[in-house]
Amino acid sequence: MRRIMVGVKRVVDYNVRVRVKPDNTGVITEGVKMSLNPFDEIALEEALRIKEKGLADEVLAVSIGVADTQQQLRTALAMGADRAILVQTDAVVPPLSVAKIFRQLIDKEQPFLVLLGKQAIDDDNGQTAQMLAALWDRPQAVSCSKIEIGDGKATVTREVDAGLEVNEVDLPAVMSVDLRLNEPRYVKLPDIMKAKKKPLDTMSLGDFGIGDAPAFKTVRVDPPPTRSKGIMVKDVAELVDALKKKGLV
Ligand code: AMP
Repeated sequence: MRRIMVGVKRVVDYNVRVRVKPDNTGVITEGVKMSLNPFDEIALEEALRIKEKGLADEVLAVSIGVADTQQQLRTALAMGADRAILVQTDAVVPPLSVAKIFRQLIDKEQPFLVLLGKQAIDDDNGQTAQMLAALWDRPQAVSCSKIEIGDGKATVTREVDAGLEVNEVDLPAVMSVDLRLNEPRYVKLPDIMKAKKKPLDTMSLGDFGIGDAPAFKTVRVDPPPTRSKGIMVKDVAELVDALKKKGLV
């Protein structure tokens, strides 16, 4: 079975204006719209396209998160994933633990490709793919903007400062995806109905021998400083004057 494993994280929807909790311990997620991490939607879309080209047999979506993450996994199944696994926990799971869980699932599921987002938009770590490749001792291609699967190898394109970089990687490999790779499909109603019947297995951190004691502690979360009120100027002379007064010119 040629399998692709895709990591999908539940995050606060990118359209939501994130608010910090009054006690500064984190951001408010209660009553807030949650979605698939946008980069993970792109990773999933790419996996589905590879399967539709006949280059894979199964797409497995994996998420580590709270019980309600089932909703995002059902969305992934409605998009076209064949199966889903939820590793259920209320704990904040740092990238190294996520990578360790994926590493163990790889032994069980034997994917030829693991597709992740280049970063989760909640914590902006951008670390999981790199850590997983190291733990698995397999090649990594990060921030891919084009992926072509060949025989035992893949050709990936990455946007770098100087232009486009094309690399060849041996498979199996870990890849993380960038924004311009593709445009994820919309989920259609019949697919939502069909997704209800697709397998969604639930596991726990204990199944992976990983405790939920955090390896790091978030000391404090503060909102960005609010912008001070601007002033209106009549003309350039007044603008220069105002800048001078502030010592900016
Ligand atoms: P990060 O290193 O936290 O920025 O996450 C990079 C990518 O790793 C995400 O885009 C996901 O594909 C995957 N990932 C991170 N955390 C999780 C999680 N809790 N569940 C599933 N996938 C995750």
